[in-house]
Amino acid sequence: MNISEKAKGIIDSCRFCWMCRHICPIGNATGLERNTARARALGASMVVRGATELKEISKNVYECALCGACTNNCMTGWDPKVFIQELKTEIVLNGVAPDYIVGLIEKYSETGNIYGKKACSCLDSLYGNGGKIGLFVGQDALYNVPELVKKVVELLAKAGVKVDLLKNQDSGAALWFLTGKTEETKNAAVACANALNEYETVIVYDPQDYKLMKHEYNEWNVEVKAEIVSINEYLLKLIKDGALKVKKGNNEYTLQDNYFYVRDLDDETTAREIIASVGVNKEMLLKGKETNMAGHLIMNEYMPEVIKEVAQNRWINAKNMDCNVIVTESPAEYVLLKATAPQGAKVLSVEEMLLENI
Ligand code: SF4
Ligand code: SF4
Repeated sequence: MNISEKAKGIIDSCRFCWMCRHICPIGNATGLERNTARARALGASMVVRGATELKEISKNVYECALCGACTNNCMTGWDPKVFIQELKTEIVLNGVAPDYIVGLIEKYSETGNIYGKKACSCLDSLYGNGGKIGLFVGQDALYNVPELVKKVVELLAKAGVKVDLLKNQDSGAALWFLTGKTEETKNAAVACANALNEYETVIVYDPQDYKLMKHEYNEWNVEVKAEIVSINEYLLKLIKDGALKVKKGNNEYTLQDNYFYVRDLDDETTAREIIASVGVNKEMLLKGKETNMAGHLIMNEYMPEVIKEVAQNRWINAKNMDCNVIVTESPAEYVLLKATAPQGAKVLSVEEMLLENI
């Protein structure tokens, strides 16, 4: 199997502490021991040693959300996500991906997105306005929650910021998730970087795209000359500068920490500062890097019942602490928590929370 020495080292370094069994949100939802970093490492080790075939472990590889909860807690200090992503590339290149993964890749090839959807015509007026500030919302928001895209633009306009919705909204995140570091993923990243570079500044809405641009683009030598800033960072600066005038009240908001922000980008504070500017931070117990939600819309396409259970489990965490208004930082988590919200509970995106406090 053609994977790096680094990936092989991670596979072999497991110390069987079983911490990943307790904290994997997918494993917690399915109750299956195979849904852990340790079990995946064991399976990969057997393939490396010729004791089993790659196709035997391919389904389990795609049952990982890459949320990094195991990375955060693994006693080896290694990152299991590294070998999981390398395995995906091997699985795809060897033609042993599960049918539903092949189907999603084909849908992406045919339509440009794994959902097979067209962007809502309600966004047409937001493209090509000729401004210096671009808005990159990514494919999850574009195809699944266009109403949030409109709200971001509305909120920025209240601060006098006019943005141009980029025509290319594909960072390569979907191909990265489905196929790892393939030529196709890198080509999508290069095309995206070229689109970003037409602007001085680009505000990035979805943390999965922001993380890819900040980490993998650098690793792949994909040059981004435009200033890339996350929507949270941009909004907080507008609030601090007084350009976005918000009212401080006593409403309680609970942040659903997005795993890309807190684990990959090490940012636990920006959204909390935004919440503090309009209300009161009410915390869940599993917060910050310990967040245990792995809301993923691509996985929702092929294992919806499990992803639903993951979201329901997060609501149990919230309700245990009497948290009734969840504020999300990612369109995927917004969609999944909204679909599973118990009676009397509410989900808001960061921009929705700000709009109700202006
Ligand atoms: S990255 Fe997340 S989903 Fe994957 S094994 Fe680790 S904890 Fe589970
Ligand atoms: S947390 Fe790390 S060392 Fe412990 S069982 Fe899981 S993969 Fe192995």
